[in-house]
Amino acid sequence: MDLPKHAYFKGKIVPYSEAKVGVATHALNYGTAVFGGLRGYWNDEKKKLFVFRPIDHYRRFLNSCRIMSMEFDQTPESLTNLTLELLRQDAYQENIYIRPLAYKADEGIGVRLHNLKEELTIFAIPFGLYIKNDTSAHVTISSWRRIDDNSIPARGKISGAYASSALIKTDAARGGFDEGLVLTQDGHLAEGSAMNIFMLRDGVLVTPPITDNILEGITRRSVMELAQNELGLTVVQRQIDRSEIYICDEFFLTGTAVQITAVTKVDHRPIGKGVMGPVTDSLRKLFDKILCGNDPKYAHWNVVV
Ligand code: PMP
Repeated sequence: MDLPKHAYFKGKIVPYSEAKVGVATHALNYGTAVFGGLRGYWNDEKKKLFVFRPIDHYRRFLNSCRIMSMEFDQTPESLTNLTLELLRQDAYQENIYIRPLAYKADEGIGVRLHNLKEELTIFAIPFGLYIKNDTSAHVTISSWRRIDDNSIPARGKISGAYASSALIKTDAARGGFDEGLVLTQDGHLAEGSAMNIFMLRDGVLVTPPITDNILEGITRRSVMELAQNELGLTVVQRQIDRSEIYICDEFFLTGTAVQITAVTKVDHRPIGKGVMGPVTDSLRKLFDKILCGNDPKYAHWNVVV
């Protein structure tokens, strides 16, 4: 794997090799960190790097910080500016993934959130496809359950909560699947290990509500808007039963990492006709054009480095 070139660390941009923490760091021991995940897309014709919806990502990031009692003198705009500064130094000419991370930085023993100092770091790495089979993914329904708002709030991107995502992903991968979907404690579909889900049933696009222990995905929000405004689809947020996925017409995953990934099989059952459906295909094409900065109508979603 590529290492980052630089990191924003302790208030300045340094070579990545200098961005180090001690092994007793609170966040490393207890998962007391929150993170974000953004993408930059290199447009080779325009020779420009486009970052997708950084203000929205940083708004969610700062909300995650609030959930974990972390205070920073930052705004979504100031974090976006820091990111642009970092990316100018990195000077990548390829697609990248950007990772902001806020963490409890004290070194010592004692589980808590209070009376600890916070640090902020940001780094970026080259990044390609997250799920190789992005037009024909085969997913399984995980035997793990989704973390609950009353245990580790799923709407915060809290590092410790991703131990659960790791269990879901690895069990799915070891079982030969591309991804795992998780059910809520009461048995409704919540999301994938690190992505939101959508199903098309009888011409209506359905996704679980934000009160079903999902991360409030930026891609999810973008896809809902595109489906309504560009494809004229009705989009509904409601609980989804497990058996609905077996009989729906199309199913796809959304997220910064997976973008829009078509799911064509779940637990060895074909979804719809067993190939990527037309709605998923149209949304993918629309979204690709936007991400690379080639759609003037959605230019406001991108920030150019
Ligand atoms: N759910 C989870 C658990 C995630 O980690 C992610 C990735 N950030 C998503 C959904 C998708 O969110 P977004 O579209 O903002 O990347």
